[in-house]
Amino acid sequence: MSAVPPTLSLLFILLTLSPITSSHSPTTCIIGSGIGGASVAHFLRHYSHSGPIHIFERNDVVGGRMATVTIAGDTFEAGASILHPKNYHAVNYTKLLKLKAKSDESDESVSLGIWNGKEFVFKTIEISSRFSIIRSIVGFVNSVRMLVRYGFALFKMNQFVEVTVDSFLKYYQALESRPIFGTVEEMLKWAGLYNLTTRTLHEELTDAGLSSLLIDELATVITRINYGQSVSISGLAGAVSLAGSGGGLWAVEGGNWQMAAGLINRSDVALHMSEEIESISYTRSAYELNSTRGNSYKCDVTVVATPLDELDISFNPVISIPDRKLQHTHATFIRGLWNPAYFGFNYVTDIPELVGTIESSDLPFTCISILKKHSEKDMTYKMFSRQPMTDVLLDQIFSARNETIRIDWGAYPHYHSPEKFAPFMLDDIHLYYVNAFENAASTMETSAVAAENIARLIISRSSSKPLSISSDPATSGSIISELHSDL
Ligand SMILES: Cc1cc2nc3c(=O)[nH]c(=O)nc-3n(C[C@H](O)[C@H](O)[C@H](O)COP(=O)(O)OP(=O)(O)OC[C@H]3O[C@@H](n4cnc5c(N)ncnc54)[C@H](O)[C@@H]3O)c2cc1C
Repeated sequence: MSAVPPTLSLLFILLTLSPITSSHSPTTCIIGSGIGGASVAHFLRHYSHSGPIHIFERNDVVGGRMATVTIAGDTFEAGASILHPKNYHAVNYTKLLKLKAKSDESDESVSLGIWNGKEFVFKTIEISSRFSIIRSIVGFVNSVRMLVRYGFALFKMNQFVEVTVDSFLKYYQALESRPIFGTVEEMLKWAGLYNLTTRTLHEELTDAGLSSLLIDELATVITRINYGQSVSISGLAGAVSLAGSGGGLWAVEGGNWQMAAGLINRSDVALHMSEEIESISYTRSAYELNSTRGNSYKCDVTVVATPLDELDISFNPVISIPDRKLQHTHATFIRGLWNPAYFGFNYVTDIPELVGTIESSDLPFTCISILKKHSEKDMTYKMFSRQPMTDVLLDQIFSARNETIRIDWGAYPHYHSPEKFAPFMLDDIHLYYVNAFENAASTMETSAVAAENIARLIISRSSSKPLSISSDPATSGSIISELHSDL
């Protein structure tokens, strides 16, 4: 490890790095067509980058962890599903691409139950009514129930989230007042978020005055739903996770993947689908990218926009990044009906629509939610678990199963504290890593925020011209629908 402070090392690199020679516009190659890769392309164009841009995607669909599944004709989010109302890049993409935002189904008052493997330790009530006054009364009763169990510390939890969200909003400040960051640490320190990555969520919430009951139940349920992990995740990942349980959550109608597809579509990009990059070598002033298809590409700038942790890309010269484990989340989609006896009930209607769980090694799943009620005896469910759900287990939880779809996601980093961050710049030349930021938090928006910084970093380090903002270059014709089919 170098002893040079990050800010100074960036300054040194900026001073010694000669701009990419202006005899040709630099070719940028981006590995990954998720929201991170698509956002790099978008912001490069937005900040007037004129050279060719290639995006490589190993799958035959774009969007990465933004993906959908279709069960009996209905399409549901299989990966990243909810956006926060203050996810301003996503808000802007949705407007720019003329996509439609819909409020997340789980934002409607669904009943919540906290299951400990034997009983529901907490349950909200649910009464479906078309009268808003009745819905308001139910909402009020549920708030009172929450207050009775968890006390006024609920407001402190809210405040912890709000303060963190407010700090994050600094990343949307105007360019003049927002530096270009050479490292993740620098970026987090500037917004006042770094310290949250050095302590666990449990420590942060305890210091904020929350009771053990509130931390071990409600906060744990939320971190298990959003990151499949306990409250030992870092305070920052924890705050982001808690923010994802608030009000005003939304999603893109038809699938969040359309943000990536739309940005790629309008960024004048050569998109190489079903083409996996297996090696990146720096030779004779350019990167040579080799793909599993036997193709070779010369790139002046290379951006890795995917987590490197479970990939087998060979780098020459070799790169060094801290070890990071991905948390695997098994998403299981079931069309059928759950078995009330599993939860100790006689009637299906007694089971809350969202079953969250506390931390216990006996529990085979982290959460189950109803995605759609087709009829009283026919529903679509989404279930998350740390291990795959076997048929034997599913047959205990469900009395009927007409369709089952399983997806094993290398979902997000396994968070801990203090976090160690990979560099944004994987070498001293032009090899960049968007997903270094994922140790802070993994969301669609954080990928977009990291990508915007990488785009600025690329431009500032490869040209002597200051950044200028272009009007967005629209390309003709829509290829969005061609870019995606279900998992
Ligand atoms: C189950 C689940 C639920 C989630 N819920 C939410 C949520 O509700 N809200 C939220 O904001 N976030 C959520 N997230 C997190 C969110 O999905 C990610 O943080 C975000 O989508 C990451 O985007 P990305 O572009 O950085 O990476 P990815 O989406 O992973 O994109 C990387 C792309 O690179 C491609 N690739 C990898 N290697 C190569 C190679 N060698 N050559 C070519 N292509 C390659 C991959 O196929 C992939 O398409 C969730 C994630 C999961 C898994």
